[in-house]
Amino acid sequence: MFCKNCGEQMNDNAQFCIKCGVAKGVGNQYCANCGKPVNPNQAVCLNCGCQLNGPVKANGGSAANGGTDGKSKVTAGLLGVFLGCFGVHNFYLGYTTKAVIQVCVSGIAILLSCCTFGITLIATLGISIWGLVEGILILTGKIDTDGKGNPLV
Ligand SMILES: [Zn+2]
Ligand SMILES: [Zn+2]
Repeated sequence: MFCKNCGEQMNDNAQFCIKCGVAKGVGNQYCANCGKPVNPNQAVCLNCGCQLNGPVKANGGSAANGGTDGKSKVTAGLLGVFLGCFGVHNFYLGYTTKAVIQVCVSGIAILLSCCTFGITLIATLGISIWGLVEGILILTGKIDTDGKGNPLV
């Protein structure tokens, strides 16, 4: 094989070129297979046809992506807009404390609706608006993580 930096013939087992000192496979001036000068932008050697940029690194895909299961921003947002008074979007995102407060206040208010309709109306309306606002904040990206701090997708 040949030094890709200076074109000098190298021992196949050498780790460095003894003429110019660069490591094996470093450089883009010469073909490592035949030693002919090549254009650094060429993908293959026009003399011998071998690939000039070394073995193409296999793109490992998105293996690092496996750990996080991002919640859907759109789902969470729509849940907030339509079912916000029951805290469904906060349950979905894992903001459990907030969700429990919302569902409890709405639930109690609805249970009391037979005798205290006005309070029920105000309470459920209030929680609904709270959920609606949070839903909009989620959809607009102002809330962009779930309860564990994972980014929404
Ligand atoms: Zn060299
Ligand atoms: Zn070549």
